[in-house]
Amino acid sequence: MSAIVEHIRTELSRGELAAVAARVYAGQRLSREDGIRLFESQDLLGIGFLADLARQRACGDDVYFINNAHINHTNVCQNLCDLCAFGKQAGSPEAYTLTLSEIEAKARAAAAAGVTEIHIVGGLNPELPYEYYLDLIRTVRRVAPRACIQAFDAVEIDYIATQAGRPVADVLQELRQVGLDSLPGGGAEIFTPEVRRRLCARKIDGQRWLMVHETAHRLGIPTNATMLYGHLETAADRVDHLLALRELQDRTGGFLAFIPLAFHPANTAFSNLPGTTGVDDLKVLAISRLLLDNFRHIKAFWIMMGPKLAQVALHFGVNDLDGTVREERIFHDAGAATPQYQPAASFLRSIRAAGRIPVERDTLYREIRRYA
Ligand code: SF4
Repeated sequence: MSAIVEHIRTELSRGELAAVAARVYAGQRLSREDGIRLFESQDLLGIGFLADLARQRACGDDVYFINNAHINHTNVCQNLCDLCAFGKQAGSPEAYTLTLSEIEAKARAAAAAGVTEIHIVGGLNPELPYEYYLDLIRTVRRVAPRACIQAFDAVEIDYIATQAGRPVADVLQELRQVGLDSLPGGGAEIFTPEVRRRLCARKIDGQRWLMVHETAHRLGIPTNATMLYGHLETAADRVDHLLALRELQDRTGGFLAFIPLAFHPANTAFSNLPGTTGVDDLKVLAISRLLLDNFRHIKAFWIMMGPKLAQVALHFGVNDLDGTVREERIFHDAGAATPQYQPAASFLRSIRAAGRIPVERDTLYREIRRYA
């Protein structure tokens, strides 16, 4: 054991996190109280140390990235959530909806660039008929037959089903039949009802979000999970959110990865809020790794936190840096100043410089290439 590791271990065993640390060393599941204690602690390095240990046990030194592209098919959204800078009213000068041929062109370009995932999310657009969503997936499947399609978060799935007057399970089945491979984790925000009401009053509640994911898992469609943090939530709200995900994962095992999303307040109704700090971003990732003991993959979404902090996060429980992306509107509309594309070479450099092994994966975490 290196001197620094020994020092952190000794300090942890003497400090406020001693009991939590003992449980992590013993491989025991952490409680709600443990989670709150971790969020209230200022011992960032101690928390990172524990998360790094948990990461090492869960998945070793492999760090994943994916060659992917995003398509945001429409920004017209009837919800107009206060937290959102992306959704626009129909008829607004900034509103857009991609036609199927525009989607085809984007998917074709992505396939030509060799992407293995096409990630599709958009607003709740009342003008779009049910067939649009099926045709969208069919089109992408046709022109990018080898790419996994990860499309429509739980809020969109619920909306598509409600508009069509169909059960969520039927809609998921039909989308899967035409080529859907998995659901992204968006729309979870924070499950606590009072906070959710203030952030996004018209959005489906946390229980419904969980129900859509549970339905997908039961049909054999894997999904991701997220949590939006850095707005009005408390430490207890964060912990309760993570534990709700842990509980569903215990029952279904259908979540692939957890992705904490830092709130970007610019151009939203909360533009007075300061946004998250680097310390907060690292703490949330590390504590997620510690509480979500049944999630194999914890992802730092570099597009939100910047590639440099995402690299540091590899020492705070993270084992996935997401993807090349190629064009992203949702976080950039909310003021993200990161680039919209990162080439694979930059992932290799960043992961290797952190002392880890870069592994290119597909959506389902199947290994495409290991850069040992
Ligand atoms: S967060 Fe989603 S549902 Fe809410 S306004 Fe934005 S796009 Fe629409």
